[in-house]
Amino acid sequence: MNLALYGIGPEDDRKWLMVDCGVSFAGPELPGVDLILPDIRFVEEERANLVGILITHAHEDHYGALYDLWPRLEVPVYMTPFAAALHAAKREMEPGAPRIPTTVLQQGERRSIGPFDIELIAVSHSLPEPNAVLFRTPKGNVLHTGDWKIDLAPQVGQPIDMDRLAAIGREGVDVMICDSTNAVREGRSPSEADVAAGMEEVIRNAKKRVAVTIFASNVARIRSVARAAEKTDREVVILGRAIRRVVDVAGELGMLDGLPPFRDEEAYGYLPPDKVVALVTGSQGEPRAALAKIAFDDHRSVALSAGDTVVFSSRTIPGNEKAVGAIQNALVTHGVKIVTDRDAMIHTSGHPRRDELAELYKLISPKVAIPVHGEPVHLAAHAELARSVGVPKVVMAKNGALVRLLPGPAEVVDHAPHGILVKDGSLIREPEVSGVIERRKVSFAGAVAITVVLDGRGELVGDFAVSLFGLPTTDDRGEAFRDAVGGVVEGTVESIPRQRRRDDELVAEAIRRAVRSAVNERWGKKPLCDVTVLRV
Ligand SMILES: [Zn+2]
Ligand SMILES: [Zn+2]
Repeated sequence: MNLALYGIGPEDDRKWLMVDCGVSFAGPELPGVDLILPDIRFVEEERANLVGILITHAHEDHYGALYDLWPRLEVPVYMTPFAAALHAAKREMEPGAPRIPTTVLQQGERRSIGPFDIELIAVSHSLPEPNAVLFRTPKGNVLHTGDWKIDLAPQVGQPIDMDRLAAIGREGVDVMICDSTNAVREGRSPSEADVAAGMEEVIRNAKKRVAVTIFASNVARIRSVARAAEKTDREVVILGRAIRRVVDVAGELGMLDGLPPFRDEEAYGYLPPDKVVALVTGSQGEPRAALAKIAFDDHRSVALSAGDTVVFSSRTIPGNEKAVGAIQNALVTHGVKIVTDRDAMIHTSGHPRRDELAELYKLISPKVAIPVHGEPVHLAAHAELARSVGVPKVVMAKNGALVRLLPGPAEVVDHAPHGILVKDGSLIREPEVSGVIERRKVSFAGAVAITVVLDGRGELVGDFAVSLFGLPTTDDRGEAFRDAVGGVVEGTVESIPRQRRRDDELVAEAIRRAVRSAVNERWGKKPLCDVTVLRV
């Protein structure tokens, strides 16, 4: 959920440029929620001073919130050709998504956006056209690295522009804001060229069908699979809309030139098993993606059988292990061979390990380092590394921190309101008013709704209504929860002195407490409980 805001000018006359506008994905702690978006109330208040949104690259955690949040800002958006084309293609999948005026920037381009003098520097990552951003100001220079690694053979697009980074280092960088994802990993991340070789070997050794699952936006990986297929006399079939979309976009931009054509799903049926490689969506275990459907025998036209191979050319994002594990187990049960990055060189990360970080620090030699893009352990490891390579000052900035970068000394000077918004069905809300907190409680312990009718003297009139949602039917003694709750309601009303039964709220609260504690006694859990008192 990356979103950075850079400001220039005195507090009463400051312009802002947003760098990236990403999403995060909800886990089971937010039941029913699709996406998590950054809370941008601070930016909304400063909207008149916001000159634009600059996107570093086309990963969801960097540009995925644009369609949902742009209508609150309505400022120009800047992206490279691949990001712009992929974003436009994604629009077809998002009903009601706004038309966003987008200016296309080239890697290496320098231009001004409002008072900001920016330059995009090509880096390497795990998709085409990733960029670092250099800000030049009269008070000094600031480098925002974005997501990067050092890959001199990235298999698509240009490699990281080390010459330009070295020149920028010589020009002088005061502050570097840098990727921490792999700051705890020693050494260097392998190149996409190593993955291409490993992929070819796996495919060459396979006797029957091969399916490779990847992150859809990883065009280098798509190229590597296509090259390996060509060399082993196989054809590539695309299974899944997300990869189809990326192949269409990358093809239009010339990124798949020189490769044999990709085949659609229909070809899978008639190609002999040793003549096909399938590129499959769903590497994170997404239940509606092609891989899950195939693994659980639910795909309309594609099946795998004993002796086939599935290559997991991706990293499982924390939180998705169970879903991916279920798919791998289903495949193994069918006799399908599984290849992961533990078995062969078929995946590499798009983020810098420690030696790459050290190399960039040597090239740039910033006066100040600000570690970003990582969990606290990654940020801490990055900070320690930056100090160890001689960076004089490291500033740790938590979410919402307002850091004065220039003139120095760089330090946290204030905090902006920040947080998350949840996208829940078709609504975007702060979690407190989304109902999701209550929904989580209901999902854990169910709910009870009770309606009682009292007359003027405080006597129960007729039957009262009890509805249970998500409770067990009976307790360990065999008593139905419905009966137990009913008994508690009756007993509670009778135990309240008649005078006090005139107070509806007092009666409702007494019943609520008694019911929750009676259920807790039998079940060890307290359901949500809603009591309505009616009078006749
Ligand atoms: Zn990324
Ligand atoms: Zn990222």
